[in-house]
Amino acid sequence: MAKEFARGFYKSTAWIKCKQAYIKSVHGLCERCEKPGYIVHHKKHITPNNINDSSITLNWDNLEYLCLDCHNEEHKFNREKKSATRNGFKFNKKGELVKDE
Ligand SMILES: [Zn+2]
Repeated sequence: MAKEFARGFYKSTAWIKCKQAYIKSVHGLCERCEKPGYIVHHKKHITPNNINDSSITLNWDNLEYLCLDCHNEEHKFNREKKSATRNGFKFNKKGELVKDE
C-alpha cells in the first residue's frame, strides 16, 4: 500500500503518535460521514519531496480521518477531477463541477 519512499515514515514513532492523537481528536469517526474511520488521509499528498517536511506529514491541518468509503470516494474524485478538467470543466472552491470559461 504505502509507497516505497514513505515506508519508513509510516513506521516512525512520530507518525504513529501523531496519527493516534489525531484519531482521538475526531473521536475515531470519519470526518465526512461519521462512520467509524479507517485511514488518516493526507490532504496534501506525501511525495519524496515533502516526506521530511513535518509541516506536511505531521500537520493536523493536513490530515483528514476517513472511512473506507470516503477514502475511495476521495481517490475517485481525484480521478474524475483530472478527466473532467481535461474536458473543459473545473472544480470551484466548494468542490462543484463548473464549466471552465
Ligand atoms: Zn466516511
